[in-house]
Amino acid sequence: MSLSRREFIKIGAGATAAVGLGSGLVTQWWGLDNNPIPNPNTEGDRIVPTFCELCFWKCGVLAHVKKGPDGQERVVKITGNPDHPLSRGKLCPRGTGGTGLLYDPDRLKQPLVRTKSKRGEDIFEAVSWETALDEVAAKLMKVKEEHGPEALALFSHGFGGSWFKHLLKAMGSKNIAAPSYAQCRGPREVGYWLTFGSGIGSPEAVDAEHARCIVLMGSHLGENMHNTHVQDFSRAIDRGADIIVVDPRYSTAASKARHWLPIKPGTDIALLLAWMHVIITEKRYDADYIQKHAIGFDELKKHVEAKTPEWAYPITGIRPEKIRETARLMAGAAPATLIHPGRRSTWYGDDTQRERGKAILAALLGSWGREGGYLIPSKMSVQPYPDQPYAQTPKAALDRVKEGLYPLADETLASGLCDISVPGEAAMNLKGWIVYGTNLIQSLPDYRKTVKAIQALDFIVTVDVLPAEICGWSDVVLPESTYLERTDDLWNPGYREPFVAMRQQAVEPLYQSKPGWWMAKELANRMGLAAYFPWKDSLEYVRERATRSGLDFDTLQAKGVVKGAVVPTTEEQGLTLSFDTESGKIELYNQTLKNLGFDPIPDYYPVEEPPAGSFRLITGRAPMHTFGRTTNNRFLSECYDENEVWVNADVAKGLGFKNGDRVILVNQDEVRSEPISLRATQRVRGDAVYIVHGYGHTAEGLKFAYKRGASDSLLTTNYKVDPIMGGTGMNVNFVRIEGVA
Ligand code: SF4
Repeated sequence: MSLSRREFIKIGAGATAAVGLGSGLVTQWWGLDNNPIPNPNTEGDRIVPTFCELCFWKCGVLAHVKKGPDGQERVVKITGNPDHPLSRGKLCPRGTGGTGLLYDPDRLKQPLVRTKSKRGEDIFEAVSWETALDEVAAKLMKVKEEHGPEALALFSHGFGGSWFKHLLKAMGSKNIAAPSYAQCRGPREVGYWLTFGSGIGSPEAVDAEHARCIVLMGSHLGENMHNTHVQDFSRAIDRGADIIVVDPRYSTAASKARHWLPIKPGTDIALLLAWMHVIITEKRYDADYIQKHAIGFDELKKHVEAKTPEWAYPITGIRPEKIRETARLMAGAAPATLIHPGRRSTWYGDDTQRERGKAILAALLGSWGREGGYLIPSKMSVQPYPDQPYAQTPKAALDRVKEGLYPLADETLASGLCDISVPGEAAMNLKGWIVYGTNLIQSLPDYRKTVKAIQALDFIVTVDVLPAEICGWSDVVLPESTYLERTDDLWNPGYREPFVAMRQQAVEPLYQSKPGWWMAKELANRMGLAAYFPWKDSLEYVRERATRSGLDFDTLQAKGVVKGAVVPTTEEQGLTLSFDTESGKIELYNQTLKNLGFDPIPDYYPVEEPPAGSFRLITGRAPMHTFGRTTNNRFLSECYDENEVWVNADVAKGLGFKNGDRVILVNQDEVRSEPISLRATQRVRGDAVYIVHGYGHTAEGLKFAYKRGASDSLLTTNYKVDPIMGGTGMNVNFVRIEGVA
């Protein structure tokens, strides 16, 4: 049965509105006065295949371009690329709303340089590109000469950041980080790597489509609109797969589930151990698979011996019979049982161990490298452009204030680069930041610390499309073209089907915005690094890479993607499993952790409880928004324009609040939110409150999103750092609720 777009979107909470949005996008609003496209149903004059940047999934899209009555070409709509493995012709609601970013009237329109004002006062002068780039090059060179290249850092989010990564390495610095590691998927990567010798990666190669049982732990598929995952999840539901959702909140996914386990926040490891207990003591694990592939089973068996469902019940709040029933359900469907890896795994600071617990459970079920479980991805190889090698051997990244911290981090920590920029925290401080496409005020925990770090810098430049909060704290702001206005590097991720995708320019950049490749090349020219950017433009660069790789560039341009030969991804398809761990086996017991003083098998430790009268703040997503950067998008906001706080209905009543009341959330550090509407509901536990992430912007330039809803980021002033890999657990903030007079 083919899946229609309507069926796909129906999974999300905003189903009806999102479908309406899909047909309204092309006609209603341009952000340009009196300039409508004459035929709203047009397919356009030409179609440009490229890939989306409304989120990290990077689906293949078709940009439909038409010349308007003023002679200017515009993108009239965006549809899914049927040839692209990550979209299969369909997009999530956000992807279709990419024109809302392109034609956002609040876009940064020209380079800005801070006048004599202080950082954070948001007073800038519009200048020419010559002036702005001269200033940036001079300031970066000054930092390099006075403090060495290792005093420079790049924070990057988004695919266009590759040009600036190259620039920073050419300057001699390795301080390159994305908040998507230490603030999001890092613990998951390390937990799975310690167990299977391989992280999950992005996009996640899991086989939800063929799973007979899917377990979501705090993962909100359907609200987190990772396109292909949601398509596969939808198919699994249609086929009658059993869904088990573990979440303090009754999410959209929970509404599709056979079992919703409203777990007490912070107790997931106890549930995982109790599940393992049932599966091992009842001999429901995949004994052949474990015998063949794993080490440490005896230690694991002993470890979970006393971790009975009765032990877990008072900890988790999940009844013993429910724990047994769900464990048996998982084992009955194995190996086609997908313990879904989720994505944002930075919750309580014990996150690597929880993720390892999920990996160990998956191993007992024999689902790694098996149909309906985890697929072993493959990727196409793409040759590099023949650049000059980096002149200096850059020092290791400076992202730990003390030696020996977070010994198993395998990427640079964005929060660590911030820490080391705060005076007094380390022997040497970073002095210059380049910020590409990431609003650090919202993406790093404790904005007060981020501001402290920024105030101590010699120089900070931000490259972005919209005037987010971080721009106000910058010395120079460079307006970047949107993904629909630029050609970026080639992308060849590891995935279930190997492919190479190309992002290509659909229309001319609006205003004075420029693509990142151009900025990086111009800066390199000014800093004596022109040899690292010898190509004329990004098109010449990607053509050379494609040609050297033996790819058909004409097809790549015409289709936006070329696919490689299909290779086996599971044992059932003939793949021989191998594990890049110390032992060469799946490590149920991990000696590396033991040697470093950590638990070799995850154990449960209680987390801090909210004080009386306060509630744990938990967050999630709306299907039409990604992060704070989409909440200014007028198109997407037609479906969901402001977050609300979910409060358990009995709790709300006890506090004297009713549905729709305007309230303020006040956290443990007396940080106060903007007013937000209260939603009294039985869909959330009484000890937690829930809001959608990304609202409550304080940047006045974001005219639509400014002070709309409440910001979970501003309320996240507390965090617990994972001692294994430095991830920042952020579900450790508590709020009380005050009425608005
Ligand atoms: S999942 Fe949606 S927003 Fe993300 S890349 Fe795909 S279409 Fe774009």
